[in-house]
Amino acid sequence: MTSGCSDAVEYVYQYIDDELTVTRKARIKWHLKHCGNCTDAFAFEVQLKEKIASAGKTEPPAELFDTLRALIQQERIQQDPDR
Ligand SMILES: [Zn+2]
Repeated sequence: MTSGCSDAVEYVYQYIDDELTVTRKARIKWHLKHCGNCTDAFAFEVQLKEKIASAGKTEPPAELFDTLRALIQQERIQQDPDR
């Protein structure tokens, strides 16, 4: 690990989401240029984020709602057996 790795790791999500100050972003950008380990780690995080984002766009299957509804009803019966 070279110096700056801890910064790069700490701010990886803010960096991807573009929530960092210009100075901090520049520092991390500079670090990524010189550190293969962090470049790999960042590439992995970006891919992961894209996967999650595309997974969120697909509609959950209808069966899932049926299962959830059944579970909620079961829970109600268990909590309130007199009704
Ligand atoms: Zn690094």
